[in-house]
Amino acid sequence: MPERILFWHRRDLRISDNLGLAAARDRSPQVSGVFCLDPNILNRDDVAPARVTYMMGCLQELQRRYAEAGSELLILKADPVKGIPQLAQAIGATAVYWNRDVEPYSRDRDTQVAAALKEVGIELKTTFWDQLLQAPGSVVTKSDNTPYTVYSPFWKNWIKQDKAAPVPALAAAEGLSPEAIAQAEAAGAIALPTAQDLGFVWEAPLLLEPGEWAAHQQLNAFCDDDRYIAEYDEQRNLPYVDGTSRLSAALKFGAIGIRSVWAAATEAYNRCRSDETRQNVQTWQQELAWREFYQHVMYFFPELADGPYREPLKDFPWVNDEVQFQAWCDGKTGYPIVDAAMRQLNETGWMHNRCRMIVASFLTKDLIIDWRWGEKYFMQKLVDGDLSANNGGWQWSASSGMDPKPLRIFNPASQAQKFDRDGEYIRQWLPELRHLDTEELVTGKIADGVRDRAQYPRPIVDHKQQQALFKDKYKAQKR
Ligand SMILES: Cc1cc2nc3c(=O)[nH]c(=O)nc-3n(C[C@H](O)[C@H](O)[C@H](O)COP(=O)(O)OP(=O)(O)OC[C@H]3O[C@@H](n4cnc5c(N)ncnc54)[C@H](O)[C@@H]3O)c2cc1C
Repeated sequence: MPERILFWHRRDLRISDNLGLAAARDRSPQVSGVFCLDPNILNRDDVAPARVTYMMGCLQELQRRYAEAGSELLILKADPVKGIPQLAQAIGATAVYWNRDVEPYSRDRDTQVAAALKEVGIELKTTFWDQLLQAPGSVVTKSDNTPYTVYSPFWKNWIKQDKAAPVPALAAAEGLSPEAIAQAEAAGAIALPTAQDLGFVWEAPLLLEPGEWAAHQQLNAFCDDDRYIAEYDEQRNLPYVDGTSRLSAALKFGAIGIRSVWAAATEAYNRCRSDETRQNVQTWQQELAWREFYQHVMYFFPELADGPYREPLKDFPWVNDEVQFQAWCDGKTGYPIVDAAMRQLNETGWMHNRCRMIVASFLTKDLIIDWRWGEKYFMQKLVDGDLSANNGGWQWSASSGMDPKPLRIFNPASQAQKFDRDGEYIRQWLPELRHLDTEELVTGKIADGVRDRAQYPRPIVDHKQQQALFKDKYKAQKR
């Protein structure tokens, strides 16, 4: 008689192209899935309602897909260290499978769940690096086999390595008997709640419809249509253009498999008929490599999650003015491009990458506020909030992380002039300034009277002065 396997989904909310799940199904048709609503995560103060709403939508579809494949996705609301072993025992599972993760909390949790399962004699299979094309440790420096701490050489090595093809979706699985379902319920299995049931209310439309189906549609639209991937290099920097894939939330929660994403990008690359289009596709592949780079460094340097990597930024004398921080959060700094971006974040749960860099530079270099405040605010809002990518982006902007360029300071006006030259993005998100001339919008040179009449704030700091102040503080730290 085939044995029962319990597959624990975490950031891999799909049945297709899922390494651990495919391995479980290879071993036995009797595969049941479980997702654990973990209070250690949901009770944190940096959980975004948009993100939970997206995740719960993914789980809804995942339950449907399990049913179509002949099995079921069970839901727990419990500490996984207790809940997973209890459920595995209740349904008579002989083995539990899951995909590995890079985050410090997840790794610690997994070690504890593994120990608890071992204690009750249940086998474990957890060697699958499903969320990455290259496993941590597989891309290392040639000179001494150590992990890279700089992106460019990482990329050069990473792109040369073979990438795996997508694996088959779960199919023809066998679910639990009614008796075993009753036992699962006795061990804590519940009906899938909504985000609201969990206390997270997000009423605006999500960036992307949750789930596997929508993520594949989005990937295909992005890779097949020449307006997107083939023009990515230029379009990706323009925040008023829908020129990026918008797959970040799907990649964060694994609503799509990274091997499927890579296969679509490779097909697009092979279809290209000019070096120029090939370059566009490769620029997108480089973004996928940034995602992997930040996950690799989080794996090897978990201390990144707690603070700066580079010495000059440790114990940095931040100004940390709370009133200015609130103005930044609310999109009321008086710098139009910064405020437009923060309003996009607050209203949609997503922000364009160019603008993430602009507002992060502004918070750290103009307001001289600890980047960890911004990192946390992003996590409280972003639908795609992801520890490795967010921490990596913030440390890059704060000049505190894995980046050879020590001092990067963005001038908000030059950024707006270059990337929002007609003021389209600013007008979209700052309706009170819609009537102004483009020149005023992008330079931020708006007369006080005009600001007052539009009920738009005067600049809360002077960019030039603050830049000088930041540089002085930085120099003093380096001594
Ligand atoms: C301060 C700051 C914070 C950020 N926080 C996050 C975050 O919490 N979650 C997140 O997924 N991305 C984060 N990013 C990276 C980037 O802004 C988003 O991944 C991107 O805007 C998502 O849009 P997209 O899916 O259309 O990306 P595309 O341009 O289509 O890129 C494809 C995919 O590559 C990955 N990617 C792209 N750029 C980066 C990058 N710089 N670093 C890591 N991965 C990247 C994402 O998974 C993205 O979906 C942050 C960047 C900065 C500067």
